Amino acid sequence: MDLPRIFTIRESSHRVHNPFTPGKLADLGQALHLAPGTRVLDLASGSGEMLCTWARDHGVTGTGVDISTVFTQKARSRAAELGVTDRVAFVHGDASGFVADEPVDLAACVGATWIGGGVAGTAELLGRSLRPGGLMLIGEPYWRQEVPDEETAQACHAGGKDDFLVLPELIGRFGDLGYDVVEMVLADQDSWDRYQAAQWLNLRRWLDAHPDDELADEVRAELTTGPARYAGYQREFLGWGVFALMGR
Ligand code: SAH
Repeated sequence: MDLPRIFTIRESSHRVHNPFTPGKLADLGQALHLAPGTRVLDLASGSGEMLCTWARDHGVTGTGVDISTVFTQKARSRAAELGVTDRVAFVHGDASGFVADEPVDLAACVGATWIGGGVAGTAELLGRSLRPGGLMLIGEPYWRQEVPDEETAQACHAGGKDDFLVLPELIGRFGDLGYDVVEMVLADQDSWDRYQAAQWLNLRRWLDAHPDDELADEVRAELTTGPARYAGYQREFLGWGVFALMGR
């Protein structure tokens, strides 16, 4: 049980595995007015940047669960680096179906709603760990503009146009699920570049160091075609944001 290696190659230098800069992550933490001691559950916590920096900056405590051994190890190192190992813990495991032993104040899934089979299932999953009146965070893509055809959607790494909604529709969907959207921080094209363009140098450095690896052809092809495809499609059409929700 582990994340396929191609992801850890692409995102080897990333602390945030999403189109958020450290600044946007900090903005979100501030926007939520987190009280010291806020108990957090972070499903698909990646390299743990959200939990570690919010533990340092706001005194939150909590647990992250992620299927990647590489990212989980990075998260533990980051906790040590920031001096917050007494406040946060990182569990290697499958987060689909993961429910906290004790209800938490804030339950998050930032950029991995497939663990619940989509937004609705992920909200339901997070809700099982959340105390009444608690905050839920969901990070999710949306279309920045209407996508003209299926080809464009697929060039954005979506299965099709129906995979995502435009922003007002996504916000409406949270409402339909019974939640108030009480805050949001959105990626922009510059923060998307920090996520996507930052992968190209990782790919190139890895390729230079591992020319005979079994993934070398795949990495070469991605580096050759990925940047222009990103600029032409994903950068224009795909938005992403973290939405803070409270049950009505
Ligand atoms: N929330 C983190 C990571 C987002 S990237 C951040 O914002 O930086 C998506 C993450 O989902 C990756 O770390 C990947 O390892 C993790 N993941 C994918 N499937 C998973 C599963 N079934 N259970 C737990 N983690 C999973």
